[in-house]
Amino acid sequence: MNKKMLLKWLSIFVVVTISLMSFVTYVDNADNSRQRAQASAEVSDVDEQLKNALMNNDSSLRENEQETTQQETTVMQHVSEEGKEPETLDVEKETVITSTNSIRKNEGARVYADIDPEKPMIALTFDDGPNNKNTKLILDALNKYNGRATFFVVGYEIEDNEEAVKLAYEQGCEIGSHTYGHKNLTKLTIAQVKSEVSRTEKAIKKITGQKRVLLRPPYGAVTDEILKEIKTPIIFWSIDTEDWLTKDINKTVDYVVDNVKDGDVVLMHDSYNESARAAVKIIEKLTKKGYQLVTVSELGYHKFGGLANGIKYGAMNGD
Ligand code: ZN
Repeated sequence: MNKKMLLKWLSIFVVVTISLMSFVTYVDNADNSRQRAQASAEVSDVDEQLKNALMNNDSSLRENEQETTQQETTVMQHVSEEGKEPETLDVEKETVITSTNSIRKNEGARVYADIDPEKPMIALTFDDGPNNKNTKLILDALNKYNGRATFFVVGYEIEDNEEAVKLAYEQGCEIGSHTYGHKNLTKLTIAQVKSEVSRTEKAIKKITGQKRVLLRPPYGAVTDEILKEIKTPIIFWSIDTEDWLTKDINKTVDYVVDNVKDGDVVLMHDSYNESARAAVKIIEKLTKKGYQLVTVSELGYHKFGGLANGIKYGAMNGD
């Protein structure tokens, strides 16, 4: 082999080697980029899986939330069933409910043992008082027929009519709040609403020592925000006598007696003498018809196992 031939073979070898190396590198690179593409696909798969997992987690969280609500409802139903057990009422004439498992719905409720939960009951309610003259007229009739009622008082009337509030509470009646100044709460700021409510609540607690004060908003005007912020049950009515409008004693009496049924909440106003005189007749007639006259908290206790904060109540027929 001459020198020329050797060079030729050597250069062929070099070219082949370089080509082979390039090919291997190319294949390697291609493989790598395939792997990278695959890896990237896997990453996006992981992303997708992560997203799904998060979404699933979220929905399982939501399911959990639902479960919690269901559990709460179950607890409330349980409390409600428990609340109907007569032995809790037999201890003494008056029971103030303080048991921790029912605090949410019955805290501070005064419940009397003379009520038969199987018999029909009515909550008579009186707004816009107290009024020493008119409120006492109603209290005398309640006393005579062993009945109780609820008085939703306005704060600014309390000072001059404190005696009526005291007497009502001593007779087993319930004192509710009708705010301080009888303003439409939906036209006020939340801070003003809170002040309207707490001012009257404090005055009632100071006179009576009552633990919980139910709220009846003037004009029945209330927003969802108020319901959320005011930590008490909100009491509406199911029988509106319009006594303040007609001031007609017989009309008011007939309307109540003809329309009332078990679990009703009757709306009247002890700021009017005609209403008080109508109430005297209503108390007599309903008692004779077999209705038990109870406070709103008692009605809530017997029909629902108690009243929850931030919830509006009208008729309490237990349905
Ligand atoms: Zn009113």
